Amino acid sequence: MNGAGRKDVTFKVSAQDLAALLGHTSDAVVVLDDQLRVVFAGPAISQILGYDPGSLVGKELLRFLHPDDLEASVESLARWEHRHGEPLGQVQRILAADGTWREVYYDNAVGSSIAAFGAMVLTLRPAEDLRPSWQDERQREVNERRLVRLASSFLHYPVDQFDRGLDDAVEELAGLDWVTRVSVWRIDGSRAVLRARWEASVNAPPLRLHDRVRIEDWPEVSRLAGGDEIAVLSAVEASGGSDAARRLRDEAGVRALLVVPMAAAGEFAGFIMLEATAVDATFGAVHVTAVRSAAAILAEAFVRNEAETRLAEQVRIDPVTGLGTRWAFDEVLVESLDRVERSRSPGFAFALVDIDRFRLINNALGHTAGDRLLADVASRLSGVAGPRTTLARLGGDKLLVLHDDEPALSGAIGRTQDLLDGLRAPFEVGGDPVMLTASAGLVHAVDATADAVELLRRADLALRRAKEHGGDTIEVDDEQLRERVASRLHREADLRAAIDGGGIEAHLQPEWDLRTGRLVAAEALARWRHPVEGLLEAGSFIPLAEESRVIGDLGLRVLRDACGAFGRWRRQGRALDLTLRVNISARQLRNDDLADQVSDALADFGIPASTLCLELTESSLLIDPEGSLTRLERLRELGVGLAVDDFGTGYASLLYLKRLPVTAVKIDRAFVRDLPDSMSDRAIVQATMQLAAALGITCTAEGVETVEQRDGLLELGVHRAQGYLLGRPEPHDRFATLL
Ligand code: C2E
Ligand code: CA
Ligand code: CA
Repeated sequence: MNGAGRKDVTFKVSAQDLAALLGHTSDAVVVLDDQLRVVFAGPAISQILGYDPGSLVGKELLRFLHPDDLEASVESLARWEHRHGEPLGQVQRILAADGTWREVYYDNAVGSSIAAFGAMVLTLRPAEDLRPSWQDERQREVNERRLVRLASSFLHYPVDQFDRGLDDAVEELAGLDWVTRVSVWRIDGSRAVLRARWEASVNAPPLRLHDRVRIEDWPEVSRLAGGDEIAVLSAVEASGGSDAARRLRDEAGVRALLVVPMAAAGEFAGFIMLEATAVDATFGAVHVTAVRSAAAILAEAFVRNEAETRLAEQVRIDPVTGLGTRWAFDEVLVESLDRVERSRSPGFAFALVDIDRFRLINNALGHTAGDRLLADVASRLSGVAGPRTTLARLGGDKLLVLHDDEPALSGAIGRTQDLLDGLRAPFEVGGDPVMLTASAGLVHAVDATADAVELLRRADLALRRAKEHGGDTIEVDDEQLRERVASRLHREADLRAAIDGGGIEAHLQPEWDLRTGRLVAAEALARWRHPVEGLLEAGSFIPLAEESRVIGDLGLRVLRDACGAFGRWRRQGRALDLTLRVNISARQLRNDDLADQVSDALADFGIPASTLCLELTESSLLIDPEGSLTRLERLRELGVGLAVDDFGTGYASLLYLKRLPVTAVKIDRAFVRDLPDSMSDRAIVQATMQLAAALGITCTAEGVETVEQRDGLLELGVHRAQGYLLGRPEPHDRFATLL
């Protein structure tokens, strides 16, 4: 600071001496005494305030100050004491000779201090010297704010809505004086392409004149392209300017034109153009400054947007296959979900496709060849895929497929199969043919209950199953299947609880001798007294029991419940020669404890072994013929009867019966249903009956529902029968009424 050097200067001169000294200065110097009275006023004072300098002597400075500035002025003069050589920035209004207020500020020409000198030397300078006019200041602020808004226009919109930001930015420039139209042009080869525009009124000149600016036709523009001029300010005059500019004036009434280049990475990348149509319109320094700053901001925004767009594109397009990436695919998927949700689409299918053994191929051929093969696969698939199928690459050799507008699972499978079949013809890698197959995990969605992530997870599970099955196949994620599994788990737990808690009981269905009308047997059929669903028949839970391994405990319950009833009746002297039939499933048969469980039940309830007949299905006997044979023999040794249940439905030949130690056969109701009309059923029933007779075993027909069926059976020689016609399965006490 220059004041530092003057700080120690002490004036040893009187005020008069000083006045003589300052008489030659061209500054508007005023010397004040310690009462702030004018001791001397320099001649230049008349230029600023209009007074004769001599007339001011003896007057108090404060009398000339604007009342509003008084306080601030006194304060700043007091502070002056401590500040040497610095202008007092404070602008004061001082009364001029013509009665108007002049804005001035104090500058000290000579370092001074009231304490040291007893007086003060001020230089008055017009305020304009200190800083730009108020108007310019305001203009600058307005422009600054405009540019801040302009720059932040781009922050409001995502990358793909850059043009909206551009529109907002352009509108900011339109706030400049005179402007009729603002337009932003981007250089594309030898042309300038309009990117944004804003028109102040509907009367703005038509843009078609410079709609597609050919740069060479626009000297104003091509000079910018040349790079030597930063901005072209062209007041379009009658004679001046290029042909293009003249046409703008003559045909579009443009009076002022400002073209400012946008440079990106040092290159001419476009320009901003201001046009004005008012007759006295001019574009001045304010315009140039504002548009230049705007151009810098827009150029930056363009560069950034283009980089971001490129990046976004890279993220959306897989460079290896040219297919979309999962990001691009996600959008399609979300859209499909949305359309389904709003009932705009009947459903869609989502498949995850994976090329079988691709890793082996990739390792054998190398990655470059592997990538090329993937590209070939992609183009094959794209060729097969219709317009409503979207393909994308998830990564590696996994592809994403979306079949849109697909109401049926079968259709989805068909469309996916078409894709996989498209890969069957050999591919060529390095001149050699390569055969490919692929697997797919397919999810069909008719509602939007699952989101994209969930769909992908399910498709992936299905794909894994396809791979486990050896590939070259489509596995379907069946929503119902999944639900079935979920509800099965619940049901399993409920069933378990029912078995342990006494919810399982045996109902008894009578078997009659049709000729004598005698009750010959009772079949125990499991019933589940379900707390919510009521009494459930065996068919609705036995398969589950068999799968979940609770069948052993369940079967034991039924066995002991029925034996309990038979034991009570026997003690009452009833049902003495009635056979008790109990169903045994394949899994139970394989349990080594079965024989013990059976003999325990018989012993516990006092029932002779010959009363009991265990029913086994044909198929359960076939699972492990040797093993079953041994076990059957052990059961036979106990003295219990053995029946082949559902005879005729399995694969056993009639002659197979001979090799088993069975005492009875039950003809499945499938062969009874169409009696007496069906010739083939008649033949089977008759043959079974004859064989049973030959083997000395009893033969019972199941599922007799009609009188015709009953009579048909009798006619064929089958006289033992069971069925709704003859009696439904009943609880013990109800069954007891038959005894
Ligand atoms: P199943 O051994 O063939 O038993 C006959 C089934 O046919 C029973 O169904 C019975 O209610 C039904 N039925 C009887 N007469 C007629 C008729 O005239 N018409 C028709 N349409 N059906 C008739 P349920 O009780 O649902 O049992 C189904 C199957 O479950 C049984 O077939 C049997 O294989 C198995 N099962 C039942 N209880 C047990 C059990 O305690 N243990 C084992 N392991 N399996 C059992
Ligand atoms: Ca049975
Ligand atoms: Ca049966």
